[in-house]
Amino acid sequence: MTYLWLMCPRPFALIFVSLATSYAQPTAHEVIERIKAEVGVPWRTQTVDTIKAGDPETPVTGIATTMMATFDVLKRAAAAGHNLVITHEPTFYSHLDGIEVLQKENDAVWADKEKFIREHKMVVFRFHDHWHMRRPDGILQGMTSALGWQKFQNAERPALYTLPEMTVESLAGQIRKKLDIKVLRVVGARDLKVTKIAMVPGASGTLAHRRMLQRDDVEVVIIGEVPEWETIEYVNDAAAQGKRKALILMGHVPSEQAGMDNCATWLKTFIKDVKIGFVPTAEPFWMPR
Ligand SMILES: [Zn+2]
Repeated sequence: MTYLWLMCPRPFALIFVSLATSYAQPTAHEVIERIKAEVGVPWRTQTVDTIKAGDPETPVTGIATTMMATFDVLKRAAAAGHNLVITHEPTFYSHLDGIEVLQKENDAVWADKEKFIREHKMVVFRFHDHWHMRRPDGILQGMTSALGWQKFQNAERPALYTLPEMTVESLAGQIRKKLDIKVLRVVGARDLKVTKIAMVPGASGTLAHRRMLQRDDVEVVIIGEVPEWETIEYVNDAAAQGKRKALILMGHVPSEQAGMDNCATWLKTFIKDVKIGFVPTAEPFWMPR
């Protein structure tokens, strides 16, 4: 700007430059409007896909897609100059991101996170419901290609896959290796030979899991997470009764992560004036050495 001002010292030169700058940087609100226009499904009135922190009128310097807007992700996004973070899952530790209780408790973890977002002029937008509603489901599509399972996917029911026969242990091992998962858990018989798989990423709830497990064309359900006394003990009982059922728990982050990498690829097809990057969320678990 200074350079141009020196080269062209007339009042309109400054006006021209500042207009050009604001054109080059859409606001967070404008970016979200473009997403709504492109997603291909009607935008719901009841949705968790809203801004969770930050001012919608903030000019966007860069967009980071991620699975969860963790403190670590926010730091890495800010360091890369991405001030609009598009997160699949909550920022403030509950589905609705309700901060009233945290505020009342004067919670130190929440306070530091909120302060970081404010000080770095960041905006956090959740993109969950509509990314799943899109056809094909943006998360499932990303996960299927990360696993290399496109050729095994059922055309009518995309959550179902018919794989070459292998043991549950070998299947779980392949998933762990392909997605580089540190802590993956399995329920059911280790040596059960299976071909019929259902993928239910994230925390879809025990009802959704059971509906899959009740099907004759499903032997293994692959999920993100669930309370341990729900689907886990259901499958444990099924296995103890000699039923051909098993469950693989990838953990929530690894079970949907590739779907948000896919989201960055999709955003690049219609947002050309802002840099876009995928910031992977670190798996929270570790095992003792
Ligand atoms: Zn999800």
